[in-house]
Amino acid sequence: MALIVQKFGGTSVADPDRIRAVAEHVAFTKGHGHDVVVVVSAMGKATDNLIALADSVTSTQTGREMDMLLTTGERVSAALTTMALHALGVDAVSFTGSQVGIITDTAHRKAKILEVRGDRVRQALAAGKVAVVAGFQGVSTDKEITTLGRGASDLTASALAKALGADACEIYTDVTGVFTADPRIVPQARKLARIGFDAMLEMAGAGSKVLALRSVEFARNHNVPLHVRSSFTWETGTWVTDEESTMEEPIISGVVTDVSEAKVTIVAVPDRPGISATLFEPLAAANVNVDMIVQNTSHDGTTDISFTMPKADMANAESIVRQVAGEVGATGVEKDGSICKLSLVGAGMKSSPGIAARMFRVLADLGVNIEMISTSTIRISVVIAATDMERAARALHTEFGLDSGAAYTAPLPERK
Ligand code: ADP
Ligand code: ASP
Ligand code: MG
Repeated sequence: MALIVQKFGGTSVADPDRIRAVAEHVAFTKGHGHDVVVVVSAMGKATDNLIALADSVTSTQTGREMDMLLTTGERVSAALTTMALHALGVDAVSFTGSQVGIITDTAHRKAKILEVRGDRVRQALAAGKVAVVAGFQGVSTDKEITTLGRGASDLTASALAKALGADACEIYTDVTGVFTADPRIVPQARKLARIGFDAMLEMAGAGSKVLALRSVEFARNHNVPLHVRSSFTWETGTWVTDEESTMEEPIISGVVTDVSEAKVTIVAVPDRPGISATLFEPLAAANVNVDMIVQNTSHDGTTDISFTMPKADMANAESIVRQVAGEVGATGVEKDGSICKLSLVGAGMKSSPGIAARMFRVLADLGVNIEMISTSTIRISVVIAATDMERAARALHTEFGLDSGAAYTAPLPERK
């Protein structure tokens, strides 16, 4: 008998039929004699809808009230999943993150887990019940309700798996595993049977949302193997583990596309020491995750500074940027929400010169304009227009020999 954590993402619990299908799978696992802890996300686009609802009430929201609001999404799916289990005759009980003792710091909307107590989950399991936990949430050291960042039900699952000493942590989603690219964008993407934590970390860091970055960080730091698989086909998926690759690392392990960021340009900033610090210090203080930064050399004593950051942080960042731009005498602030960050990720890049040049040649031949470039030893990212994303990602996937013989065949559920 094993202890298995099963996490179901938003599409997997998007409607009553899906919730019943999930309950059946949990009942099946339980029926085989295993202890099961279920972690659920909010139904479908419930979290996006709650954010839109808040925006329609007011454009200025406190983190505390947003977390009170957003955590309801996961409560709904936890309660409904538990009811569906009851209907199948399975003894089950739902819990909020707070009830299971997921203790976080006080940073609303991006709280970090400090401790997972898990007592009530252990008690429920000892009583023969399935524990259904609302993902994405915890309670702070100030006793306030917190959320752990977008996509963080993955983190709830890996943190609970570690705290409970689970034998497996299964992340059920709407694709059949981790692929060499998002199969919704690159149909020829290849499913990986296994991927190491480091490569997965790079892909998640570059913006692949199949696993939330912090869940991969947590899983790697605490050595929690993750099994990413489909709740639509239930087939074996991708194991994310610390296993050393026995073969030479492929030069490129994946192409990652990310449309969650926006680009901001501050026009004609005086080119003198201290300007970057003046701009980025208040953004850091406001917890804005600035990603790529480009500053050109000046010609006439002024320069443009461009940077990218999550679109979700835009409202928060814009007023700060406009204020600083005014203070330092810049002539304007431009924002562009229609960009794609396109990355090539691969550990083999370290020892293979010329990857960037090959990437740029592919984009040049497609007539795709590169707006920004950043590199690390095992990643090259460019910012391009979002409208160029599909053809650029597909061409790079082909160029670097990643295409599979057949296109993705499993259902790709629409996200409602
Ligand atoms: P969930 O709601 O289950 O957490 P997410 O939307 O967070 O689902 O993540 C699953 C989605 O991630 C897939 O539908 C797919 O479009 C996308 N995705 C992006 N990159 C990849 C990749 N390399 N492999 C598989 N899926 C990917
Ligand atoms: N519902 C949350 C979100 O949409 C958390 C999650 O799905 O993992 O970000
Ligand atoms: Mg997710």
